[in-house]
Amino acid sequence: MTLIYQSTRDKTNQVTASQAILQGLATDGGLYVPTEVPNVALDFETLKNASYQEVATLVLSAFLDDFTAEEIAYCVENAYDSKFDDAAIAPLVKLDGQYNLELFHGNTIAFKDMALSILPYLMTTAAKKHGVDREIVILTATSGDTGKAAMAGFADVPGTKIVVFYPKDGVSKIQEHQMTTQVGENVKVIAIDGNFDNAQTNVKAMFNNEALRDKMLANGKQFSSANSMNIGRLVPQIAYYVYAYAQLVKSGAIKNGADINFTVPTGNFGNILAGYYAKQIGLPIGKLICASNENNVLTDFFRTGTYDKNRDFFVTSSPSMDILVSSNLERLIFHLTGDSDVATSELMTSLNTTGTYKITDEMLAELNGFYAEFADEAEISAQIAATFEGDHYVEDPHTAVASAVYKKYLAETQDTTPTVIVSTASPYKFPKVVVESLTILTGQEDDFDLVKKLEKISGTPLPKAVSDLFGAPVLHDTVIPATDMQAAVEAYLVLD
Ligand SMILES: *Cc1c(COP(=O)(O)O)cnc(C)c1O
Repeated sequence: MTLIYQSTRDKTNQVTASQAILQGLATDGGLYVPTEVPNVALDFETLKNASYQEVATLVLSAFLDDFTAEEIAYCVENAYDSKFDDAAIAPLVKLDGQYNLELFHGNTIAFKDMALSILPYLMTTAAKKHGVDREIVILTATSGDTGKAAMAGFADVPGTKIVVFYPKDGVSKIQEHQMTTQVGENVKVIAIDGNFDNAQTNVKAMFNNEALRDKMLANGKQFSSANSMNIGRLVPQIAYYVYAYAQLVKSGAIKNGADINFTVPTGNFGNILAGYYAKQIGLPIGKLICASNENNVLTDFFRTGTYDKNRDFFVTSSPSMDILVSSNLERLIFHLTGDSDVATSELMTSLNTTGTYKITDEMLAELNGFYAEFADEAEISAQIAATFEGDHYVEDPHTAVASAVYKKYLAETQDTTPTVIVSTASPYKFPKVVVESLTILTGQEDDFDLVKKLEKISGTPLPKAVSDLFGAPVLHDTVIPATDMQAAVEAYLVLD
């Protein structure tokens, strides 16, 4: 039997996994979710000796079950190969009192690579399956990491184009340089005067614009999404939760079957939602700890049941979490309503019109598998210094948010369950904040000086993803108002 995915806003809108991957978002504005929890054989006596690729194959085969075994094997082999600079793909490092799951060994040294290195293969395989010969245009809003990782995945993939929008002043210098130097005949990078939420809102509007969709079809093209709303992003992320657990069983750190916690630095709620699905398929997870920076809309939501995006927006040192509308939360809301498309639509309409919604007390009570807290800029900096002092290990600001929040969780609960910090970026991606947290700067250093300094301090070699950047020519320098995004897309695609 094939696993069916349904839209969170219209349950009659049903597709298979490959169709959902091809479409990205549901055309009714909802997100695709599985209609049931697939059966995954989580036998850790076997899995503890499995490679990352084997664990990924197990998870993908269950959730994307209209792909053949050969198709899954093709995708996995091409995604998780030597482009990762660590053979384990997602190594688990033991620090004092916590385990850090390093998800930053791919092309762009951030965790988006875990899913975006496989998404182009899943998408082109899905297109072939369905005899789609239209050009697939990937439209993406990025808070810094998705854009580069998506372009790295899709650059020069035949039959595809990719357009990336990023907030001009909302990403780190390294992140911006990674994007503006991207090569590829089929890539377009555009900065907007606005923040990530503006970019994301306008991208969603283009997906839901029927006239534009028809125009695309008339021109032999169709949109798809590489954003974390695509289940082709979500499902591959479930694999590393299972893999981390297997590694802990293997090392003897836990007994097979014992609970562990995960602390996840959260923005769009994609990563931690994959943890939620991992728990649904039976992975023994105690708490999923949702860690935010000063943009703490999720902390308030988990504590009060009210989601309220009407608040100041902060540009922080963990820009990939500078988000006020966490799109993937809609999937959790849908499940909390007992899979009600009507109730979910009402809440999302409320969010769109008033910027806020409130869930019922019963729904809030069901969120007891989550814990939520945030860390401010001073706490992040202090955590980077503390982890370095204690472990001689350098965390990036996003990972440090998670570590700082975990410390607060420990202090509040005294829960001694072994805990994995989901480590989402290499410190080399954010050298300024990291080096500033560890030494005194003159303020004159450029990014090149900073990564050299970081190399000296940390003793870990500069990743190739960063050394390649220096001297790379800037190929994209367009900046437009957020309101001109659709016009820019139409111009680039030469729609008529
Ligand atoms: C995207 C990103 C996050 C947030 O992940 P979500 O899935 O959006 O919650 C955290 N850290 C880094 C480094 C990221 O790139």
